[in-house]
Amino acid sequence: MPTTAQLSADPIGIAELADLVIAGNAVSAGQARQLLDVAAGSPAAQALFAGACRIRDHFLGQRVKCCSILNVKAGNCSENCSYCAQASGTPATAYDKHGWLSDQDIAVASQSAAENGASALGLVAAWHGVKEGSQLEMVCDAIEKFSHNGKVRADVNLGILASQKVADRIKQAGAAVYGHNLETARSFFDNICSTHSFEERLRTVEYIKKAGMGLCSGGIIGMGESRDQRIEFAEQVRFIEPDMVPINFLNPIPGTKLGNRPVLDADEALISLAVFRFMLSDRNIMAAGGKEITLKDRLHEVFAVGVNAVMVGNYLTTMGTSPDYWKEAAARHGLTLSQEVEAIDQDSSSCGCG
Ligand code: SF4
Repeated sequence: MPTTAQLSADPIGIAELADLVIAGNAVSAGQARQLLDVAAGSPAAQALFAGACRIRDHFLGQRVKCCSILNVKAGNCSENCSYCAQASGTPATAYDKHGWLSDQDIAVASQSAAENGASALGLVAAWHGVKEGSQLEMVCDAIEKFSHNGKVRADVNLGILASQKVADRIKQAGAAVYGHNLETARSFFDNICSTHSFEERLRTVEYIKKAGMGLCSGGIIGMGESRDQRIEFAEQVRFIEPDMVPINFLNPIPGTKLGNRPVLDADEALISLAVFRFMLSDRNIMAAGGKEITLKDRLHEVFAVGVNAVMVGNYLTTMGTSPDYWKEAAARHGLTLSQEVEAIDQDSSSCGCG
């Protein structure tokens, strides 16, 4: 096993580490932390990216999964997530605030997601969590109709779950996958949100898994967390074993609490994705929101660092990239887009806001 002290400048050691991951070994937090320090453009970075792609190809093949999301209830959220334009008290107005969309609107969005090459559509609601009683029943009625239309897999992202009973009811209504991000490292979470806790998020993850829904859970990088905390976050994600790990990059929206933060450096973002692939070897890793502003004309390089899923279509409050771009980008890296609507299984995917 390569020693952690040498890894960040040791391309041969990094290639050997990739071999060990492919053979079924786990990368330690110390090794992952060393990998985060590889210098952009160095032979070590090349070995990191090549290793990440070998690991992806070995565990997940060369097919790219595409998901889409729909803001089914937008704006005026009670929560105060610092990065979010929908957070309570945020004056951002660049998106349409609305209550729960009609079944017809959801059906139109499913059709459009399918036409955009997405195999799943996640219904995302801006609130603390769905409330038991009439609101839960209204939501479940909508999920039932959505899941029966068969255009795309029916996923949801409905915030904090109050109990196992609520999770079971949502699963029974037909939700295949529940998206609920950990957002960031536990040790950094209080800097990001104070209206709910990291522990509430972990409890919600437990309810999702016990209900038998697929789990989509990742977070956002570039919010001011240290590199140590980025590894801590990935360790926590590894612990909960999501089917899909969406990695968002902070898009500093004016008016939000993080609106003045610089955009993450593109090399740092790509190196982070590759390190996550070493750590989360057999999980689906999705390049999600904020990738356009972070990577700009290097967007296609997500496929050169071990990513196997992308969010297509528009995001919650910002515009995304056209499906044609992704098709071409995947082909450029020897990959193909998967357009199958996946069944409910433990290899499922989704995407999520908070
Ligand atoms: S991320 Fe989700 S929970 Fe947090 S403020 Fe935005 S909409 Fe609300």
